Amino acid sequence: MFLKGKTAIVTGSTSGIGLAYARAFAAEGAAVVINGFGDAAAIETERAGLAETSGAVALYDAADMTKPGQIAAMVARAAKETGSVDIVVNNAGIQHVSPITEFPDDKWDAIIAINLTSAFHMMKAAIPHMKARKWGRVISTASAHSLVASPNKSAYVAAKHGLAGLTKTAALEVATDGITVNCISPGYVWTPLVENQIPDTMKARGLTREQVMNDVLLSAQPTKQFVTPEQVAAFALFLCRDEAASITGANLSMDGGWTAA
Ligand code: NAD
Repeated sequence: MFLKGKTAIVTGSTSGIGLAYARAFAAEGAAVVINGFGDAAAIETERAGLAETSGAVALYDAADMTKPGQIAAMVARAAKETGSVDIVVNNAGIQHVSPITEFPDDKWDAIIAINLTSAFHMMKAAIPHMKARKWGRVISTASAHSLVASPNKSAYVAAKHGLAGLTKTAALEVATDGITVNCISPGYVWTPLVENQIPDTMKARGLTREQVMNDVLLSAQPTKQFVTPEQVAAFALFLCRDEAASITGANLSMDGGWTAA
């Protein structure tokens, strides 16, 4: 329980990778703040389970990552109700797939706001709390798409490259404050975000589910295995250990060899 007495805020944690981070932090005793959209009863069940696991406070905050005021309010609430803000994970993210010439303006704006700009607002609000305790961890879920591109994912690739740059800058600014700032860049992780792309791709390309999974999604991933949310969460936990104090400003790939190819 090495995170006892610490508070972790994980954006976009009602699902997928974010939920795995929240469960991992709670299992190590952290108070956690979960965030994101979804069924109210299911979220409450998850929140209660996290509190039971950690033996600490667990909060749900519905802050919309497109709204800077709501982001700042979530951080202030976490500090007030748990006593500190020690770990933030910028994880909320959405995707839209379309060529640039047809890319809807509102989808571009939403992806940049949720996948990139929200991380800036989280850092701005949370870093002062970390500085006050001379310890902090900022972790962002970037992507293999922070390092390489794919066609038809302009906003996502731009946002994730931006997130990697923001991470480097923030790491330099707080390097002597006991705070590390890193991003984890997974390849394809088996989550609803990926699963939801399958029916459209099946239809668009006339493929079976298995063909989409193996020949489209995993075609770039040399291991031919999906990364699991639990693997990503375990990596984040390591970044919170004192042994990881010298890892900062890094873009840490976890992509089954995708970006090595
Ligand atoms: P997911 O769809 O399962 O979860 C996304 C979460 O973000 C949900 O909790 C959702 O409610 C929340 N969210 C969406 N819009 C929001 C908003 N405006 N405000 C607050 N919360 C919002 O997706 P996932 O696959 O777990 O993705 C999590 C992160 O990991 C994303 O940043 C994604 O880009 C990144 N990522 C995913 C993969 C993958 O293959 N699944 C690979 C690399 C990176």
